[in-house]
Amino acid sequence: MTHPVSARRRQLLQGTALGMAALATGCASVGGSTKPRVVVVGGGWGGLGTVRALVEGGKVQVTLVEPNEAFMSCPLSAHYITGWQPASDFQRSYAAIDRLDNVRRVRERVLEIDRVKSEVVTGSQRLGYDFLVLSPGIEYMEEAIAGYAQARDQLPVGFRAFEQAAVKREVDAFLTTGGHFIISAPKPPYRCPPAPYERAFLIAEQMKKRGTKGKIILLDANAGPMPGPIAKPILGAMKSLYSAEIEYMPNVDIKAVDMGKRALQTSEGDIPFQHANLVLPMRANGLVRQAGLGERWAAVKLPSFQSQADAKVYIIGDAQGSPLPKSGHVAFNAGKQVGEEILDRVAGKTVAAAPGPVDLPLGICWANVTHNTAININVASTVEAGQAPKLKFSVDPEHNTRSGAGAMSWGTGMWKAMLG
Ligand SMILES: Cc1cc2nc3c(=O)[nH]c(=O)nc-3n(C[C@H](O)[C@H](O)[C@H](O)COP(=O)(O)OP(=O)(O)OC[C@H]3O[C@@H](n4cnc5c(N)ncnc54)[C@H](O)[C@@H]3O)c2cc1C
Repeated sequence: MTHPVSARRRQLLQGTALGMAALATGCASVGGSTKPRVVVVGGGWGGLGTVRALVEGGKVQVTLVEPNEAFMSCPLSAHYITGWQPASDFQRSYAAIDRLDNVRRVRERVLEIDRVKSEVVTGSQRLGYDFLVLSPGIEYMEEAIAGYAQARDQLPVGFRAFEQAAVKREVDAFLTTGGHFIISAPKPPYRCPPAPYERAFLIAEQMKKRGTKGKIILLDANAGPMPGPIAKPILGAMKSLYSAEIEYMPNVDIKAVDMGKRALQTSEGDIPFQHANLVLPMRANGLVRQAGLGERWAAVKLPSFQSQADAKVYIIGDAQGSPLPKSGHVAFNAGKQVGEEILDRVAGKTVAAAPGPVDLPLGICWANVTHNTAININVASTVEAGQAPKLKFSVDPEHNTRSGAGAMSWGTGMWKAMLG
């Protein structure tokens, strides 16, 4: 059983002293305000959770730095990529954020984090902070497949906002002309492990509907679908619904791509293709390494998500390196938790650490098998001082319409919480 005290509060004893020390040197005036300054980098799932929590009470001045003019969801975007729904179903504007008091949105890319000066550097300004929350997501490890960097424009991954349109073009071309469509799944950790299987399923469903001649070759770097608890329902759905459309090849290592020959060089020999969606191995956004906050992933303390290197900095979402699932649900709720902790630190609150395990943000993920059915994957996690977190999966035994409807209403509810 987990202790009812929220995870963030366990860290307050150690967090408060550092927080107040930081504030003693900070609180520079922003537009005449002397409120503590919180800079949030990334207006995706984690960053928006943070902003939503920070605005409560109007105690801090928040700057959200995000280069995109709008939000596009990766969750559920397979319905757009495979032609079932328009892109607009998965996009939202930042208007609701712009209406919030004490929040300024800067539409720029962060180029550098200067932790010595406590400043975030964009192309046109330096933004000082008392607290920094990073939720910049992931980047692709292009060097993992020789020749990929040169072929990048023809082989979009589409695991980041607004990249989906390029994948949709590949899928549309395949559904029209047929041939071999390769989808790959890398070794974890990567963003939303069920997603490559979901894409394969929804493309296969369209193949049946449109009579596309050809096949999807699903190259998995793993021995079976990841994470392990989803393997049975995923393989079951593949066999019962798509045995004619999907050829599944586990334990395949992709070494190189040759766009001249349109072939992949793999541990199982050369595989020719007409169209492809290679899902590359991933690491944290480069800002994490530039700022000295981690290598492949940011090193954080749990349950607080505070950087191991800097008490003023929190890293949430897919960029952080805990074993929690790389899920938008986790990212949004970690953002809310971190926002609340910062407000507590600003208020100088101290709360006694609770004994025993504490809850970490819940993971909720959906793998659609058809446009109307899905497999629901929930991951509950706890952590105890000095120990690795414990994860407990609960997964639908097979795809069903209840989870199909649940996926869409979950998405709608989350986008409303972020941007409604
Ligand atoms: C196909 C697919 C299906 C998915 N399905 C699910 C699901 O069912 N359930 C679920 O919970 N999760 C799902 N996910 C995972 C979910 O999308 C991620 O876990 C979530 O987006 C992580 O949030 P984040 O804040 O870390 O990153 P993001 O949401 O990617 O946000 C990062 C933001 O940072 C911005 N940024 C990047 N660099 C900079 C910079 N230098 N300066 C300023 N801003 C910057 C980006 O523009 C972006 O807006 C899915 C993902 C994919 C790809």
